Amino acid sequence: MDERQTLLRSIPAADVLLRAPSLEAAARAHGGAAVLGAVRAELDALRASVLHGEARAIPPRPDLCAAALQRLRTGQTMRLRHVVNATGVALHTNLGRAPLADAACTAVQEAASNYTNLEYTLETGARGSRTAAVEELLCVLCGCEAAFVVNNNAAAVLLALAALSRGKGAAVSRGELVEIGDGFRLRDILEESGARVVEVGATNRTHTDDYERAARENDLAVLFKAHTSNFRMVGFTQSVSLRELARIGVRYGLATVADLGGGAPLDEAAYPFSGEPSISRALRDGADIVCFSGDKLLGGPQAGILLGRAELIGRMRLHPLARALRIDKLSLAALEATLRLYCDPARAGNEIPALRMLCTAPETLRARAVYLNKLIEQEGANCATEIISVKRPVGGGCAPSALLDGFAVAVLPAVLHVETLEARLRAAAPLPVVARISQGRLLLDTATIRDDECPAVAAAVKAGCAL
Ligand SMILES: *Cc1c(COP(=O)(O)O)cnc(C)c1O
Repeated sequence: MDERQTLLRSIPAADVLLRAPSLEAAARAHGGAAVLGAVRAELDALRASVLHGEARAIPPRPDLCAAALQRLRTGQTMRLRHVVNATGVALHTNLGRAPLADAACTAVQEAASNYTNLEYTLETGARGSRTAAVEELLCVLCGCEAAFVVNNNAAAVLLALAALSRGKGAAVSRGELVEIGDGFRLRDILEESGARVVEVGATNRTHTDDYERAARENDLAVLFKAHTSNFRMVGFTQSVSLRELARIGVRYGLATVADLGGGAPLDEAAYPFSGEPSISRALRDGADIVCFSGDKLLGGPQAGILLGRAELIGRMRLHPLARALRIDKLSLAALEATLRLYCDPARAGNEIPALRMLCTAPETLRARAVYLNKLIEQEGANCATEIISVKRPVGGGCAPSALLDGFAVAVLPAVLHVETLEARLRAAAPLPVVARISQGRLLLDTATIRDDECPAVAAAVKAGCAL
């Protein structure tokens, strides 16, 4: 214990360190308070480590100053920051799904830095509805009676079931009770609504009879159909189409609710993959309510969008959970701007980044790979590169069996393990690069790398390949 007391007493005072030239310079650049904070944090950490018996000596003052400066630097870097998505997966959930269109970013900036008429009607001076403007846009774009928006699609599912099926049964096929990622299971979300989940069918096969029997034998309120998201069943399978399900719903007086997951806002022909039913098709097929994410195929902000029959949407709007799950004003601003772009589908295709990345012609992706490869060569990076054709998934649980055509620069470091390069790219400053390894090479997929990011990627490859 005595030894620790001696060590503690020999820790220099903060103001002694602050007189070091390096810290005085830092104080001029970043302000004295920030530097004092970093020094105090460093000394506190040192004291704790002495008390725990970890530090057996006090580092020399220059080392303490350097450590404080390092703290200052990392403390000033936002944890949430711009990274280069070199995976080719346009809707990468871990990388924030859809980047926003410029128009949406401008709308966010405008709503963030000013007061807004968020819940205020300028014509009358009375209280107004937060979501009325986007609801109107959604009704026009998707051809539905009514719309409502909440925080995300999981919230939309929860609200729909709470409003329509609390205390009653909701029938769902066993083949659709998916886990949507990070351990969250659809069944658990459905049950949190207070609805009783009535599983029908077998894992691989569900028939119309299964739903009909469930409707006769249980006190049901809802027939629920979920997009199977990130997986696909093959082989001896059978499922009931939304159209058939809606017919059963009408026959038994039940609401048909379809969780579309990604929800394609344009006609199916607009996408370079098949198997994602469009929102308007789901409504035409007879779903009473459809819901989907704002940041998947729509290419907007995180949001949960509910469309369908006015009477049912009205019940959701008035449910207490609607207040707990409400969308924030910045997401709302981004959503309205994104939906306005869809009023002109050609504009949407050009200006919504996620949509553009999904639809870019392979030739354009090859040209970007040639450009990126040239930059890497100009940097003189210590590696061998090759432009190769690749296949890439859509991401976000959308069109799980689709693989889109693309191109990548494949990088083989001359002296390092490819895993070392991959890790160094993730740590690259100022712009981390997230890439994948395939067959011993690092792939930089140009479907999700922007032209303006290519120079930073090339510089990171050069630094990452150096011994
Ligand atoms: C992605 C997805 C969700 C969750 O949507 P969030 O907007 O991430 O909450 C729910 N259901 C399905 C089928 C999905 O694909």
